[in-house]
Amino acid sequence: MAAPWQDVLRDAAAVREAAAVAVDAALLAGVLMRTGEQPNASDVVNYAPFTLLPSAVPRALFEQAYAVQQDFNLLVDAISQNKEFLEQTLASTIKVDDFTARLFRIYMQVLEEGLAQTVFLGINRSDYMFDCGLDGAAALRQIEINTIAASFGGLTSRTADVHKLVLKVLGKSEEASHLLPNNPAKGLALGIAKAWELYGSQRAVVMFLVENIQRNIFDQRCVEIELWNRNIRVIRKRFRDVFEQGSLDGCRRLYMDGQEVAVVYYREGYVPQTYDQQNWEARLLLERSRAVKCPDIATQLAGTKKVQQELSRPGTLEKLLPGHPQAIARIRATFAGLYSLDEGEEGDRMAATAIADPDRFVLKPQREGGGNNLYGEELRQVLEKIKDSPERTSYILMDKIKPQPALNYLLRAHSPLQVSECISELGIFGVYVRQGRELVLNQAAGHLLRTKAIEHADGGVAAGVAVLDTPYLV
Ligand code: ADP
Ligand code: MG
Repeated sequence: MAAPWQDVLRDAAAVREAAAVAVDAALLAGVLMRTGEQPNASDVVNYAPFTLLPSAVPRALFEQAYAVQQDFNLLVDAISQNKEFLEQTLASTIKVDDFTARLFRIYMQVLEEGLAQTVFLGINRSDYMFDCGLDGAAALRQIEINTIAASFGGLTSRTADVHKLVLKVLGKSEEASHLLPNNPAKGLALGIAKAWELYGSQRAVVMFLVENIQRNIFDQRCVEIELWNRNIRVIRKRFRDVFEQGSLDGCRRLYMDGQEVAVVYYREGYVPQTYDQQNWEARLLLERSRAVKCPDIATQLAGTKKVQQELSRPGTLEKLLPGHPQAIARIRATFAGLYSLDEGEEGDRMAATAIADPDRFVLKPQREGGGNNLYGEELRQVLEKIKDSPERTSYILMDKIKPQPALNYLLRAHSPLQVSECISELGIFGVYVRQGRELVLNQAAGHLLRTKAIEHADGGVAAGVAVLDTPYLV
């Protein structure tokens, strides 16, 4: 499964030269991030971290990941409309996890009032690793599906060109010609534009709901610019702005300082730290509104780790997607082992199994954004501590995926150029739009490959662990 440039990795002079070209090409292509020192200004920026070379990805697994994306879109959309399933699945979690409980309360509140929203837009990213079996064969295993604020669809649209150039500099022109074009930003914008159009008001704007600290603004700008190119107005606001300027009219149309909002695209709102009392109020206001939320709160809940674990139970997919046996088979083929830690015999048994053999598992709380999972000795200690308390229920347990590492250079500003043993995670972007009961758009919108050194168990690009990459299909 190795890429055909292992020879190059050992040629220090060639690597140095290629890395210098790579960094300049990345800056020219717009593979950019703001700096940690000035996260809210674009006066001084840097390149977003990326690999010197593309990483090998088995073609069959890459195609499998694309082929199942529409099925996952369908599934997430179905879960978001299934109150009974969400209620039952999250019942144990919301007793112990305050953040999920607060999201759930808003969900119930907007359902009780009756939904004003009639157009639904989902943008998700299903992430996978390539599990290496005992026979050496790799299998596609889903890590998670992100149903809110799935990022890097913009910057990754620009990495393939950088890697193409690097391969040419290294004398690999033939290989360079095989790198695939990839433009998730365009696909994401297509979905947002469709939702905006169905909302049906020319004057209304698309609102990007953004963080207070906006280091990754260029990734978002890629999508924003696609919308401006379609003559759709975009505004960028924070939860606090919504609290201060947001209002609903009698038909629950959403206004920001008098400007009607057709689509709210959340790039924020998935971690508890975002929310103080005022921001919770802002979130409720948005959810009650007629505006198309991407995602609505039900779809955010559909992306919780607890829901993911429940999906792997025999019979659950059949209940959620009746009449779709082939979609179910494709979805199930990507699942890793997932286990409930709810109170009871099953949870007791799994907790004991994981304590006895922690390296087989990952322990996951209901959190997003990287850096929250527990591994190895830490997993064992935490489970040991909470194994007899209800707190156990706020976690799920997952089989640890063990990919085959490969050598690469991770280019990061102010870091020395050194070879690392790396593993990669493939994400496929999905976009869908539903009007009432009818799905009017359902697509895979492109891919993202992120690569990290094996010494880090966890963490994404924004967390400073993984870097952007380009798949080289083998
Ligand atoms: P988050 O919502 O924080 O992104 P993830 O489930 O994606 O949570 O986990 C974060 C990271 O932890 C992943 O990007 C991956 O590197 C690692 N990870 C998660 N689950 C597994 C697993 N089952 N096996 C190996 N590594 C995993
Ligand atoms: Mg993740």
